[in-house]
Amino acid sequence: MNAKNFIIIGGGIAGLSAIKAIREENKTDSVLWVSDEDRMPYKRTKINKHIASGFSKDEFALTDHHWLMENHIELLFDTAETINTQKHELTFKHRGTLKYNKLIIATGKTPRLLNISGLPQEKIHQVHTARQVENIVRSAVKAKKYLVIGAGVEGVETVDQLVKLGKEVTLVERNNMVLKRFFTPKFAHLMEQSIKKAGVHLLLGIKDITYCETESGASLITIDGQEYKIDTIISSIGYLPNTKLAMDSDIKCNGGILVNEYLETSSPDVYAAGDADEHPLGQITGLWHAAEHQGHLAGLNACGKQLKLELKPFRMKTEVFGDYYFSVLPSSNSLTFIEEEKGNLVRDMYFKDDKIEALLMKNDGDRAKVYQQALMEKWSLAKIRKEIPL
Ligand SMILES: Cc1cc2nc3c(=O)[nH]c(=O)nc-3n(C[C@H](O)[C@H](O)[C@H](O)COP(=O)(O)OP(=O)(O)OC[C@H]3O[C@@H](n4cnc5c(N)ncnc54)[C@H](O)[C@@H]3O)c2cc1C
Repeated sequence: MNAKNFIIIGGGIAGLSAIKAIREENKTDSVLWVSDEDRMPYKRTKINKHIASGFSKDEFALTDHHWLMENHIELLFDTAETINTQKHELTFKHRGTLKYNKLIIATGKTPRLLNISGLPQEKIHQVHTARQVENIVRSAVKAKKYLVIGAGVEGVETVDQLVKLGKEVTLVERNNMVLKRFFTPKFAHLMEQSIKKAGVHLLLGIKDITYCETESGASLITIDGQEYKIDTIISSIGYLPNTKLAMDSDIKCNGGILVNEYLETSSPDVYAAGDADEHPLGQITGLWHAAEHQGHLAGLNACGKQLKLELKPFRMKTEVFGDYYFSVLPSSNSLTFIEEEKGNLVRDMYFKDDKIEALLMKNDGDRAKVYQQALMEKWSLAKIRKEIPL
């Protein structure tokens, strides 16, 4: 049976970072990188922000064949189906079984499935993979009326693109605010005003959606008793860590794949990194830079280092409807709150013992890197006012 020193499952940023870290430490051992998508691993964050322009197949590729060859990385397009952790064996859908010395699981998240009675799954679009977004781009040739379900960041960014294409969009959300995962009610309200100003029909706190087809085959959606004729439905109702492979293989999982502070799973020589993970205090990250950081650490530790993961305050940023937003939410109610505004710039800062812990900002994107640095280094209010004056 064929054997590999390192196998990395998942062609996302966590997987690529792990590979780069392995090659920093070890130039020669065999490395196999597995992706179950239909193209070179790519920058996932770009896809839903380019619905209006469209994109070519490898436009957002994270790497190319030349780099892989130069670094002796084998990229396999296949699905890892089972892990025998006792025997250190991995079975693929097509390639058969391979042995590994060290395994890194970086399988990311999987979108929650929208379940509306009578609405067939093939009528529901998603924005998780490049292939899915290409389907939305194709739908835009004919479709005029869109329903986007879920006003999280991916949903709102998708709506922004549809508005750029001149589409008529209804955006519905069961919470009473947009971006509940990243925003305070104040910032949600700021964004909601821009969404409505852009002509989007925004419905918050919705309770009930039903579906039926008209005689002509058109989709008729009823939202809390009000009927809407819709051409295209897009679901963006959140994600769950992709734990299936780990769970089927007796690797311990809770909400995500359970890892310790060294990103080791419950099975020897098996690490996990990125959106698929659940960290010792129950955190599941779900941001690009967090996945990149974890992948790097998992790669180094798989090479024999013993580096502890420190969860850093990575920001969420998004640019929609002409505004820039940045958010690291406060994790406690007992922080000192300072709010500042000048022109269209708004910033809310949260301090503990005069060290910044959290920050929400609107329309100061040119200095976003300095804000991120302030959070990483826990600057005082005086230092922030000196280095990033209003
Ligand atoms: C549309 C969209 C926009 C986003 N925008 C932002 C943003 O602006 N900023 C930000 O910080 N974050 C953003 N995110 C989140 C960010 O993309 C993720 O946090 C990041 O991609 C996680 O990386 P990952 O490598 O852990 O997982 P993923 O990128 O999900 O990669 C995991 C890969 O593993 C593959 N896989 C799963 N199971 C198997 C298997 N059994 N065998 C083989 N392959 C498998 C999956 O198909 C996938 O290709 C966005 C996400 C989406 C969907």
